[in-house]
Amino acid sequence: MSDKFDVIVIGAGPAGYVAAIRAAQLGLKTAVVDAFVGKDGKAALGGTCLNVGCIPSKALLDSSKQFHNLTHNFKDHGITAENPQIDIGTFIGRKDKIVKQFTGGVTMLFKANKVTSFFGKGKLLKGNEVEVTGNDGTVSKISATNVILASGSVPIELPFAKFDGTHIIDNAGALDLTAVPKRMGVIGAGVIGLELGSVWKRLGADVTVLEALPKFLAVADQDIAKMAAREFAKQGLDIKVNAKVTSAEVKGDEVHIGYTDKDGAAQSLVVDKLLVAVGRRAYTAGLLADDTGVKLDERGRIVVDEHNHTGVDGVWAIGDAVRGPMLAHKGSEEGVMVAELIAGKPGHVNLDTVPWVIYTEPEIAWVGKTEEQLKEEGIPYKTGAFPFAANGRAVAMNEGIGQVKMIAHAETDRILGVHMVGPVVSELIHECVVAMEFKGSSEDLARIVHAHPALSEVVHEAALSVDKRAIHKGN
Ligand code: FAD
Ligand code: AMP
Repeated sequence: MSDKFDVIVIGAGPAGYVAAIRAAQLGLKTAVVDAFVGKDGKAALGGTCLNVGCIPSKALLDSSKQFHNLTHNFKDHGITAENPQIDIGTFIGRKDKIVKQFTGGVTMLFKANKVTSFFGKGKLLKGNEVEVTGNDGTVSKISATNVILASGSVPIELPFAKFDGTHIIDNAGALDLTAVPKRMGVIGAGVIGLELGSVWKRLGADVTVLEALPKFLAVADQDIAKMAAREFAKQGLDIKVNAKVTSAEVKGDEVHIGYTDKDGAAQSLVVDKLLVAVGRRAYTAGLLADDTGVKLDERGRIVVDEHNHTGVDGVWAIGDAVRGPMLAHKGSEEGVMVAELIAGKPGHVNLDTVPWVIYTEPEIAWVGKTEEQLKEEGIPYKTGAFPFAANGRAVAMNEGIGQVKMIAHAETDRILGVHMVGPVVSELIHECVVAMEFKGSSEDLARIVHAHPALSEVVHEAALSVDKRAIHKGN
């Protein structure tokens, strides 16, 4: 007889651990199986996000931003320092401490909520049994009325640029370098490539980002993407679009990269470190016995319906392992929804209002549809935009860069999308998420009082600008 739970969650990333806590809050007897091994060789809850993703990248982005400000921007404030240095050991150590604080926090939350934690690899068997293989090789079985699969994702590896952990690295490698590389190559100008490329650029590396697509940040609104590209170029981040990498060879301490340019001509680049950031894929290796009935789609993701049910009785899947944006908060909300559905409550996640953030400098954030998508879908729209350069707070902060662009339906004025590049837009976007969740119009935001001077006045003015009545710029 195996131990019986109401809910077993496989995977303790932001999707799985949140699902487990919510299930336990609702009185369900809950267990989590997670296999992640931290830097110290011990079990570390929190998955990719807490260990090698969102949290450590933000820690390094913040430290490197401070250094960059000291070496480049503080002089505008009259602040100078002689020969500023950064100690990479302390820089990485601070990040490790933050990671430990948060992974340890999940352990404490599990204890507080009476979630049982198993350390090892979980495999779903037929009949909602889960086989747990501990790191020491011991095998045990537990079972539950409901199993939530939250196995997350892993970096995509290019066949010609296999990760070696030293010269050709993934996100985890780029978060743990022991010295600033002189030359760094990044394959892929996506969120991860831009964030981690920025970290090492700010510390002095020559960073070249190679992107196969002809457009920079094709997923983002192109007005915003173009503005961001200009800023990155000013910072010396060399982003080459139409650059499809076809080979990478480690020669001594160098990586020799071959790529084709927009004319198909062969080009080459030599770097000291190569970060491969060409996206992530759902991780399901060893997760499912052959006869569970759980299906995978053509991209290897677990197939689910709009309630994240797999179609197999009592089996659900959430987070990066299923369709939808690979973002921590999306997975967490799916976790809450599934726990509530299991407990007999209503639950839903609105994938149309999931905010996206890229924590570069300036930051990029958006919610809803881009202008390009609306054009393609034939939806009539009107736009308004306002620059941070005309905002008192942004200029006082020496960060008058970027803009907020709002898109509303041409007839109903309902907000369809908001796109931002500029200071702290990772926070500003949420006013727009709330407005969109409440089916708000640009006029709703235009008529709300915003504090002065505040960065959020740019959102207010962008809303006014949709109706061509922004106050602090020409319309
Ligand atoms: P994961 O976090 O991948 O967790 C899955 C867990 O399941 C892992 O611990 C894994 O070991 C475990 N597991 C897998 N299979 C098994 C098994 N069979 N048995 C037991 N355990 C198993 N997203 C954001 O929203 N904001 C950001 O700023 C952000 N920054 C990022 C920066 C980087 C460098 C990276 C790589 C990602 C970033 N992301 C960010 C994406 C974010 O990390 C993911 O969307 C998120 O972690 C997905 O959560 P998840 O719970 O689905 O999976
Ligand atoms: P994301 O999926 O947002 O992490 O972004 C990954 C990026 O990597 C995408 O924009 C891809 O176009 C890009 N990419 C994938 N393969 C290659 C390649 N061989 N050379 C250059 N860029 C690539």
